[in-house]
Amino acid sequence: MELSLENRDGLLLQTIWDRIRQQNLLRTPLFPSLFSLTVYLSCCLPYICLDVLSFRFDVIRRFKIQPQSKVTWAMAWGCLLKILHTHAFVIFPITILHWHWTPVVLPIEAPELRSVLGGVLACLLLFDLQYFVWHLLHHKVPWLYHSFHKAHHRHTATFSLTAEHANVWETLSLSFFAAVNPALLGCHPLTKMLFFILNIWLSVESHSGYDFPWSPNRLVPFGLYGGAQHHDLHHLKSRVNYAPYFTHWDRLFGTLCREQ
Ligand SMILES: [Zn+2]
Ligand SMILES: [Zn+2]
Repeated sequence: MELSLENRDGLLLQTIWDRIRQQNLLRTPLFPSLFSLTVYLSCCLPYICLDVLSFRFDVIRRFKIQPQSKVTWAMAWGCLLKILHTHAFVIFPITILHWHWTPVVLPIEAPELRSVLGGVLACLLLFDLQYFVWHLLHHKVPWLYHSFHKAHHRHTATFSLTAEHANVWETLSLSFFAAVNPALLGCHPLTKMLFFILNIWLSVESHSGYDFPWSPNRLVPFGLYGGAQHHDLHHLKSRVNYAPYFTHWDRLFGTLCREQ
């Protein structure tokens, strides 16, 4: 008997979900924070290699948004140490407390492909709005900017590791938005996991400092997605492009900037 496309996707998702569910690691207290840290560093690694190679090869340097900018080992170490410090002393303890109070529930059935795709997109759009409001507020109120957001603006030319180089309050706020959205929208744990991976990758990509022909802002039509160009301009000019990914909120509020 031939399986329809929908049944085949369902079977594939169920197989993937069964494999994931069998991992005891998922039920351990440090899994969420170790998972996000591993995904983050894995997403940064290819860009760190490009940063090293761009010193030697023009063919790479010509894709840099600010070709004159150079990422030094001291800059990379500075970001990495801050990120590891925040994880060790803030994120890990919070994750353990959360695990202690909230039991890990992993349903037997996998979600449908449609609900995975819809859930990931809805979480991403909601995160984009939450970050836009948070970000706008932290630029418009000088006390909020100097106390909390200024740390993220240390580098006027972005590179991958700057994505999570931030004050503890900023890291906690953004982690809270990312964690609460799948719960608010009633997403399956697999959808939640895929949203986390996509959200981390897009955040690293938007800080990568590279604009390739295959970058998401060139693949999403009608200029709906800002990406690396958009966010690099925010680090350079500060008072434009507050949304992390999409362009509609900045367009609506008159804060969209596309040219250097
Ligand atoms: Zn940034
Ligand atoms: Zn900012």
